[in-house]
Amino acid sequence: MTTLIKNGNVYLNGKFQTRDILIKKEKIQKIARHLPEKADRVIDASGKHIFPGFVDLHVHLRDPGQTYKEDIVSGTRAAAHGGFTSLCAMPNTDPVVDNIATVDYIQRRAKDLGSAKVYVIGAMTKKSEGLEISEMATMKSGGIVAVSDDGGCVQNAKLMLNCIRYATNFGLPLVVHAEDYNLAGKGQIHGGKVSSRLGLTGLPSLAEEVIVSRDIMLAENNDARLHIAHISTARSIEMVRQARERGAKISSEVTPHHLILTEEACLSFDTNTKMKPPLRTEEDRLACLEALRDGTIDCIATDHASHADFEKVREFDHAPFGIIGLETAFSALYHHLVKPGLLSLERLAEALTDAPARVLDLPPAMLKAGLPADLTIIDLEQQTHFSPENILSKSKNTPWLDQKLWGKVLYTFLDGRITWEDPDAQIS
Ligand SMILES: [Zn+2]
Repeated sequence: MTTLIKNGNVYLNGKFQTRDILIKKEKIQKIARHLPEKADRVIDASGKHIFPGFVDLHVHLRDPGQTYKEDIVSGTRAAAHGGFTSLCAMPNTDPVVDNIATVDYIQRRAKDLGSAKVYVIGAMTKKSEGLEISEMATMKSGGIVAVSDDGGCVQNAKLMLNCIRYATNFGLPLVVHAEDYNLAGKGQIHGGKVSSRLGLTGLPSLAEEVIVSRDIMLAENNDARLHIAHISTARSIEMVRQARERGAKISSEVTPHHLILTEEACLSFDTNTKMKPPLRTEEDRLACLEALRDGTIDCIATDHASHADFEKVREFDHAPFGIIGLETAFSALYHHLVKPGLLSLERLAEALTDAPARVLDLPPAMLKAGLPADLTIIDLEQQTHFSPENILSKSKNTPWLDQKLWGKVLYTFLDGRITWEDPDAQIS
């Protein structure tokens, strides 16, 4: 099977250039200004943008154990719908991914039935309980790409130090969800003006910042690779910036919602504005955006966290934390940041493709002859309507529900096969 994609604006070497792309079987065979070749399938991509398949370092597939929220099939289909071809699965499933059998289960199921490449992140501690180091070495031999207790956070600094040393021995980066439990308490939303106004318990920025500070110190002392998940405060970012200037191997990711929304969104009492870390202040949001622009923050990750309606559609205090993000990520970012001129399309492309791939040493996410044909074709001139019927995730918990946003994913290719095709897309 050969596919020829003609006249697209192709993201190549950091900029968009008009090119044809020839795909043969699972690989990109040629990229050039004009390819005269015939192909089994021809797509006219004039006026469309072609990106390497997006890479998401932070996805909760909920499989095994909570497949009423999401599973590997629905989660990777949602990924394909959003233009993603690779994702990292977080280990807070049931059972927790702290053993090689569960690593193996996820990998096999994704390979057999998935619509995206799934890289497994193993738990840092057994059952992610923060008490005892997990079997990192065995899981590493089974193919995990990092360790994390995401959803939770190792509270004991001595244990965290041991995790850092142990993981580093095996060349495993550590991904940290920075949250001090005592400071976070029963906080529902960011501790600030809006929490006071609404009478909701606040989750202070300090709960994140003391752990970011602690873990940077611990990692730096051991020359370890530490990745801060969903960074959200101006002070956390400042600490990362300084650590990087000192040469520490600290990376970070930011979510679309922390780049676009603030605590003000919680005034709606929409439980789809409730997540961890919480939506912060405008000052924090602007710091995230600036740090993404200047490269202090490496990449964008969605923290896709599905919850069923019966869990999420209820009193604010009782709703679980988290929102889905795979399908809305590109459009939300394009609509709210790129279109108004706050972020370049090139930086957005990088932050969703090769930048995250580099953070965890995943295969390169770029368009190049000889590489797997993982790519997505997007029409920036069309809107996507995120109605419950159009969302492929099993859960619909997004603050952009029922909204129309600019940017529509027309096709996603994974290893040369189509994993998403918009009903309106036309193959000639
Ligand atoms: Zn987290």
